[in-house]
Amino acid sequence: MAADFKTIILGRGMMGAAAARHLAGMSDGIALIGPAEPADRKSHHGVFASHYDEARITRTFDDDVVWATLASRSLDRYAEIEAESGIRFYTEAGCLFAGPPAVRGEGYLGRALDVADEMRLPVKSLPPDELSRRFPQFAFNPIFHGYLENRRAGHINPRALVRAQALLAERGGVRLIDATATAVRDAGSHVEVTAGSVRYTAEKVLVAAGGFSNFNNLLPRPVDIRVSARTVAFYELGASEMEIFGGMPSTIVFGDREEDHVYILPPVRYPDGKAYLKLGGDTESRVFDTLAAASEWFRADGDKAEREHLAAIASTIMPGLKSSPITSAPCVATYTRDGYPYAGFTESPRIAVLTGGNFVAAKSSDEIGRLGAVLICDGGLGESDFGKELTPVFR
Ligand SMILES: Cc1cc2nc3c(=O)[nH]c(=O)nc-3n(C[C@H](O)[C@H](O)[C@H](O)COP(=O)(O)OP(=O)(O)OC[C@H]3O[C@@H](n4cnc5c(N)ncnc54)[C@H](O)[C@@H]3O)c2cc1C
Repeated sequence: MAADFKTIILGRGMMGAAAARHLAGMSDGIALIGPAEPADRKSHHGVFASHYDEARITRTFDDDVVWATLASRSLDRYAEIEAESGIRFYTEAGCLFAGPPAVRGEGYLGRALDVADEMRLPVKSLPPDELSRRFPQFAFNPIFHGYLENRRAGHINPRALVRAQALLAERGGVRLIDATATAVRDAGSHVEVTAGSVRYTAEKVLVAAGGFSNFNNLLPRPVDIRVSARTVAFYELGASEMEIFGGMPSTIVFGDREEDHVYILPPVRYPDGKAYLKLGGDTESRVFDTLAAASEWFRADGDKAEREHLAAIASTIMPGLKSSPITSAPCVATYTRDGYPYAGFTESPRIAVLTGGNFVAAKSSDEIGRLGAVLICDGGLGESDFGKELTPVFR
């Protein structure tokens, strides 16, 4: 029997849409199946995504050479994607890390400096006095040093990037189908994908459903991921706060304790027309093992205690925010066993998986998508494409 498509990609998110664009340049007969963002998240009872936002930090400076390479290869193509799609998503605002002075080879910052040397990244070290002079909007711990990546760093708009990827994929011949898959089955000679009452067939399927990859029977066996709740705090800025924070870079601050680490996005305009500065942390209050629990989390406004924790940190390091109204929102981070994304086949030679953003994959999603496309075309990934590191682990 002839299948409807050569490849179906499931998930029109950051990785899936990028995979579709890249695969369109390698093959024909592709469908990208995934729902659009819900118009009203509070009344939506289906799947959600981790990219429903206007800003994600981008940088190459990283303590891991695989992640730094995935980011760098993606950054290489931002301008091309913007030019071809006509959709702007990248702002080169720079990225600043602030923390205790780095010791080479030790801790995140010490390792990241070694990776920066290896990759010849122009990262400028700022001693405490220079850090406070250049970034007066922050009140960092006086012993903190800064590590600044000025070029090829800043933030991307993840919604806009997904839009651009999907547009270019469609232009390249990919059929976009606005639906949620409810089952995937290897039928021997082909794969069947059920989406509600409709059934599609394909020679191969790439499951790129983010934190929702283990729900809806998309994979023969669950992939080993931890889907972890994240709460983000939004500060609505008025004109005077914009004066203070408008020119800041994307910023990551290492507190004394791990739970005090925060990342801060410079103010950007949101669809309601207002400018918000966003702050998030890395504490894990809950993990989700069912679609119902994950979906319920996305309908709420995040964790109240986490929001208060973030607000307490913000009031110390950004006193200029004291009069800004604060709201919060939910998201999920999808962690893999080794901390790298998964890109590989399942026990079925026709069903592959591409997921595991580990809280940091938005900036690198174009390269991760390319790896998904290569995987489908070639059946595996070579050493320069991190085939070993990205091998999925199943439960
Ligand atoms: C609060 C927060 C802040 C972050 N900040 C940063 C940052 O600053 N920088 C950075 O680089 N990264 C950041 N990340 C990580 C980044 O957003 C994710 O790694 C990235 O979105 C993962 O891409 P993905 O394609 O795997 O998943 P998603 O973008 O979530 O896409 C998955 C898609 O699959 C679809 N889907 C799900 N189930 C089905 C189904 N059954 N059928 C069809 N489609 C389905 C969904 O609709 C969704 O569109 C952050 C994440 C969070 C939560």
